Amino acid sequence: MLARAAERGVHCLAVPTPFAVGRVNCYLVEDDPLTLVDAGPNSATSLTALQDALDEHGRRVEDLRRIVVTHQHIDHIGLVEILARRSGAEVCALEGLAPWLADYKREMEENDSFSAAIMLRNGIPQDVVFALRAVSAGFRAWGAPARVTRTLRDGELLPFAGRGWRVLHRPGHSPSDTVFHDEDSGELFGGDHLIKHISSNPLISRPLPAAVAREEEGSSEERPRALMAYLDSLRLTRELEVGVVLAGHGEPIEDHRSLIDERFRMHERRAEKLYALIAERPRNAYELAQEMWGNVAVTQAYLTLSEVLGHVDLLIDEDRVVEREADGVVCFEAA
Ligand SMILES: [Zn+2]
Repeated sequence: MLARAAERGVHCLAVPTPFAVGRVNCYLVEDDPLTLVDAGPNSATSLTALQDALDEHGRRVEDLRRIVVTHQHIDHIGLVEILARRSGAEVCALEGLAPWLADYKREMEENDSFSAAIMLRNGIPQDVVFALRAVSAGFRAWGAPARVTRTLRDGELLPFAGRGWRVLHRPGHSPSDTVFHDEDSGELFGGDHLIKHISSNPLISRPLPAAVAREEEGSSEERPRALMAYLDSLRLTRELEVGVVLAGHGEPIEDHRSLIDERFRMHERRAEKLYALIAERPRNAYELAQEMWGNVAVTQAYLTLSEVLGHVDLLIDEDRVVEREADGVVCFEAA
């Protein structure tokens, strides 16, 4: 599959990261402008690996003319600004992501406060919340601010001399997830929207700056429903004519529809499991996460909380579960 992409001048450059997910796939696209999709985390090791990978294709960082960003996570954006400064390449990203990238540090800080409030509201003990904030702050330097010089709108065509990519906003895994669809070749640059060997966890994130401004006007206090947004995005992607998904991690995906259907079934099973626990007796999200994942609910408290809340949202949407609040903590019970 990668061999066919290579014939069209698309090369996967697997860049190491210090994270559990392993390598991140960046893509070099031999066209005019010479393009790199995603940039790896901000570290000397990753930069060296990326330079070596470019070198294998007879290219240098200085040759890059365009850098395309699939989403806001640090393993994808960390080196964007360094590469752009060295090459003079334009940086393309979804318009809503541009102010976020420009103000990276403050946005991450705000996102951490936002996550802490959600954790406390859902029964996660204060000491666990503090510990997780420290861990997150420790990771911050793997990302970096970046200046977006070309903002992209959902649905527009990003042209090259020899191809064109349809820009499609697919929020869920993160609020800024963007996929790039070559409608002629069937290639889809998917970022982390769809990954073959792991389900892309829809982490509950603070909305992008423009959306935050809109919400503050309407003063909505509802938490973002990341899993529901993600499933809606998957439904849209399922309809696309795709030959291969070139993913942000792992192997390329040939049959995106069966993989998406598999994901739908997995989320349905997980929602049913949670429903059984809630029907047994009312529980808060932290208790549900511990029932589901044991100690992982403590060490990976935010990840597992996002999982629980995402699936509870599905059950609330189906009127099978209701949310009650007592002493600032939310509890779920069968309707
Ligand atoms: Zn990601």
